[in-house]
Amino acid sequence: MSKVLIIGAGGVGTVVAHKVSQHPEVFQNIVIASRTKEKCDALAKAIGNPDIITDSVDADNVSELVALFKKHNPDIVINVALPYQDLPIMDACLECGVNYLDTANYEPKDEAKFEYSWQWAYRDRFKEAGLTAILGCGFDPGVSGVYTAYAAKHHFKEMHTLDIVDCNAGNHGKAFATNFNPEINIREVTQKGKYYENGKWIYTEPHEIHKPLTYPNIGARESYLLYHEELESLVKNFPTLRRARFWMTFGQEYLTHLRVIQNIGMARIDPIMYNGVEIVPIQFLKAVLPNPKDLGENYEGETSIGCRISGIGKDGKPLTYYIYNNCNHHEAYLETGAQAVSYTTGVPAAIGAMMFLTGKWKRPGVYNVEEFDPDPFMEKLNQMGLPWHEEFNIDLEL
Ligand code: NDP
Repeated sequence: MSKVLIIGAGGVGTVVAHKVSQHPEVFQNIVIASRTKEKCDALAKAIGNPDIITDSVDADNVSELVALFKKHNPDIVINVALPYQDLPIMDACLECGVNYLDTANYEPKDEAKFEYSWQWAYRDRFKEAGLTAILGCGFDPGVSGVYTAYAAKHHFKEMHTLDIVDCNAGNHGKAFATNFNPEINIREVTQKGKYYENGKWIYTEPHEIHKPLTYPNIGARESYLLYHEELESLVKNFPTLRRARFWMTFGQEYLTHLRVIQNIGMARIDPIMYNGVEIVPIQFLKAVLPNPKDLGENYEGETSIGCRISGIGKDGKPLTYYIYNNCNHHEAYLETGAQAVSYTTGVPAAIGAMMFLTGKWKRPGVYNVEEFDPDPFMEKLNQMGLPWHEEFNIDLEL
């Protein structure tokens, strides 16, 4: 009998909870815990599974987490709260002997900086405890790493360039909204760009490098070079890569709003005093922006996320390769009540936990997704709502 504990009941947590509920053959017992228990209760009610247990926890607090883990005794925790909570949850996992999975790497609250070093430092402790930690198991990071591992395993003798391309061609009808947690999203897209070339990291100004890229079933969209966390692990795990970059589409309206938000100081992450109360501007902004979880109902269009790779194929000849998934916002909403950005993150998190519980991705230590066998995960993507498509020897545009 396996028990999964989901921490976080936002957009992504909603999708994870729906997906694990659809697979009772793997997930026999489900607990959802978050800062606000009412949100967990509402989610359990929406799923309609009376066996789901809900609870509350402040996941910044290790002793509260330890009490929660002791009370429910889960086999694995799926952390879909915020990146700030990664380390406290990993600490509690070590203390209670619980396995771990997340979708975003640790970020300190007071510094908009994300890197794996903090979590990789737990490797020996998880190994000694006989526990598995699976890092970055959403779509990007997540499926982007699994796609790359699949390409390396089945198609390439040597990979030379990797471009992860992420397009959201959806329309939610709001002047400005972010597709996942606004605080995390704005911190991510306003920082400097960075990519890997010939063994070095090259820095750019935010949104300095951009070009139109053509996305399947969508067409050309202006795409901006950003730094994204999976580049750090992928260049380590696939050392033949000479260049690795990440691109994301943004509309002009979105970028204009973002520039204004930054220029007027609303993206600041340091506390300020307001009427005798300490507030962090970006956290205040989050409170007035649309909740990403509520965008689903009127969201039209689709996302398209994939990897474009070049190198030498298994047959020794030059090869270009594109693997991608398109996900429709409205269909995601009809199934789970959440839009495609939450859906494309939550489905892989549920699959990753399934990989662990079925013994396919069970290995004591702390690992990024591309370090496991991609095949069983790729099979589940097709079965669980994120089918993928491959194209060979095409113009990668990059
Ligand atoms: P939301 O803001 O919608 O949800 C976050 C949830 O975590 C909320 O239920 C929130 O509770 C809860 N939470 C926040 N702080 C705490 C805390 N201290 N203790 C307990 N619970 C807490 O975010 P999303 O669902 O959009 O995103 C979830 C995660 O997924 C983020 O880490 C994000 O970076 C990641 N992500 C990964 C992607 C990928 O492809 N890899 C893509 C998109 C997102 P409350 O409602 O009470 O505030």
